[in-house]
Amino acid sequence: MEPRDLSTHSPYVPGRGVEEVARDLGIDPAELIKLSSNENPHGASPKAVAAIRDHAAGISVYPKASHADLTARLAERWDVDDEQVWLSPGADGSIDYLSRATLEPDDRILVPEPGFAYYGMSARYHHGEVNTYGLSPTDGFEQTAEAVLSAYAGERIVYVTSPHNPSGSVMPLAEVRALADATAPDTLVVVDEAYGEFARTDSAVTLLADRDDVAVLRTFSKAYGLAGLRVGYAVVPEAWADAYARVNTPFAASELACRAALAALDDDDHVETSVETARWAREYIASDLDAETYDSAGNFVLAEVGDADRVAEAAQREGVIVRDCTSFGLPSCVRISTGTRAGTREAVARLNETLADLGLGAHA
Ligand SMILES: *Cc1c(COP(=O)(O)O)cnc(C)c1O
Repeated sequence: MEPRDLSTHSPYVPGRGVEEVARDLGIDPAELIKLSSNENPHGASPKAVAAIRDHAAGISVYPKASHADLTARLAERWDVDDEQVWLSPGADGSIDYLSRATLEPDDRILVPEPGFAYYGMSARYHHGEVNTYGLSPTDGFEQTAEAVLSAYAGERIVYVTSPHNPSGSVMPLAEVRALADATAPDTLVVVDEAYGEFARTDSAVTLLADRDDVAVLRTFSKAYGLAGLRVGYAVVPEAWADAYARVNTPFAASELACRAALAALDDDDHVETSVETARWAREYIASDLDAETYDSAGNFVLAEVGDADRVAEAAQREGVIVRDCTSFGLPSCVRISTGTRAGTREAVARLNETLADLGLGAHA
């Protein structure tokens, strides 16, 4: 007995963890600055951590009240009906729910290239196929309706990542609207706003007020610092209300995830500090790193370093973990997550030394 033929499925390759790298290098994990997974350098909201402690004893029951409360709270925040908020284990879970809710076998989705791997993975799990549209370094990965439409061929879902991972570019709302207008009525435009808090553009949730062909993904993993808990959600059109109950994994977000997310939503200080620091740090990296960078609206910066594999490897020996973007199809780029102010300054100094040592970088 074997699993089905999974040879066309490729595994998700995450950034390397601190413990893993420290063990390899034989050093204390505390010496490492990990800027490879776009995590929150300030950690989780202290209120979320307290909520987890307070509710630890409650985990013997299924999360009914907390799930409903978090859903209601998010619906209020976005001014939509409760049924339009689909809680999930991370935003990744919502990608699966949207696949399940839309794809018949052999239906196709359209995703950005370079882009986030999980869109395609999820579609393939659900017996769908994947086409791509290109975003190009030569124009700063500019995102326009036209760029997407030039590759569009009636796919069932079109994914837009705004801010885009790994480049940090955004698609302005007018372009999202133009894209949704131009695609077929049975094409869903999914705007992935995993990094939405860090951007200065409005959320595409506003478009749902008068249309039924746009959905938005949001997560607690980035600005809220709850990546380890796995909680995110989709905001879907009103017409989709009853699909959730038919496609979700029962009790999609755990008791502690729901409690922590509710508490994090009440911790404005933590989110504001996180967003402010990320905005400062992305400017700092752009101005002080000895390499060309792309404008980013996220908590990370994509940098042209010539040889990503060598630079990431050498930087790691200097105690800085960055994301080699070869797996995104960008072998000359590394993606550097924003750290704390001190962590970012230190990381940029070490990266500049690394670049100089390798004879790479803008001032080489
Ligand atoms: C991090 C990320 C997500 C969501 O991650 P979860 O932890 O599953 O919420 C979604 N899309 C992109 C582009 C991301 O970078």
